[in-house]
Amino acid sequence: MQETVSFPASLGGSEWPELKPGWVWLVGAGPGDPGLLTLHALNAIRQADVIVYDALVQKVILDWARPDAEVIYAGKRGGKPSAKQRDISLQLVDHARAGKRVLRLKGGDPFVFGRGGEEGQTLVQHDVPIRIIPGISAGIGGLAYAGIPVTHRDVNQSVTFVTGHDQSGDTPSSLDWEAISKGSQVIVIYMGMKHLDRIRTALINAGRPEDEPVAIVTNATTPEQRVLETNLSTCVEDADAQGFGAPAIICVGRATLMRQALDWQAIAQGIAPRNTDPMGRGRPAEDR
Ligand code: SAH
Repeated sequence: MQETVSFPASLGGSEWPELKPGWVWLVGAGPGDPGLLTLHALNAIRQADVIVYDALVQKVILDWARPDAEVIYAGKRGGKPSAKQRDISLQLVDHARAGKRVLRLKGGDPFVFGRGGEEGQTLVQHDVPIRIIPGISAGIGGLAYAGIPVTHRDVNQSVTFVTGHDQSGDTPSSLDWEAISKGSQVIVIYMGMKHLDRIRTALINAGRPEDEPVAIVTNATTPEQRVLETNLSTCVEDADAQGFGAPAIICVGRATLMRQALDWQAIAQGIAPRNTDPMGRGRPAEDR
């Protein structure tokens, strides 16, 4: 059980931007843990008349809304009935035109596989003024909560973020898996569970080793977070056997091995690190 301390409620000493009537702020809520919100996001939540939020936004965050705020769910989850993207964007336009202070709260970062670009564009096309508040994206923050550094000097000088879905819900046909496979030391896949079988086959066919380490982090940064350490050849079967489903971040690459040293949530529970030198360097990490 994690110990808690009380947190100062007022954030004095700074000028915080005002969310004005008729404006829409597109705000990232981070991957789940409310503590991963930015201060700008909290400032927005406290001012908004209308909050339109997504499926992946943790409900406790909405407790910080003003008591009289209108809180509207606009969830979109693969395969389930959901509000249409254009309807959501036009709903934002309507609220802004009605003189409301509108907050569009999206999981992670609004501009990372979050359709924040489309919503912002529709608002701009309707002359609605906007502000963008970035958030911590699940592909970075979610992996950090699993103890996986998305870059690590011994492993990768680049990282590729890909989506496992395109607009039709299929694996994106525009993705050149061969190029990704050759060019990306670490591949971070969003929305990849449905097509994980196709994705791993594409990666193996393009030359990635079958035993390449893979980590799957589901419900990252929430109390339901679970992490599966597996490899390319068995990841689909292992995920099925252990009931891993969406929302999940899949990380392909040797950076995932660092979890053997950096699983800080396990360490906090008194479990010793499995291996403090997963890259087998035989010397302290900073002596280089
Ligand atoms: N804008 C978001 C991504 C939205 S797409 C961001 O920047 O994080 C939705 C996908 O994000 C999910 O299918 C999953 O792959 C990933 N995701 C979002 N939150 C997650 C979480 N808490 N744990 C694991 N994956 C998450």
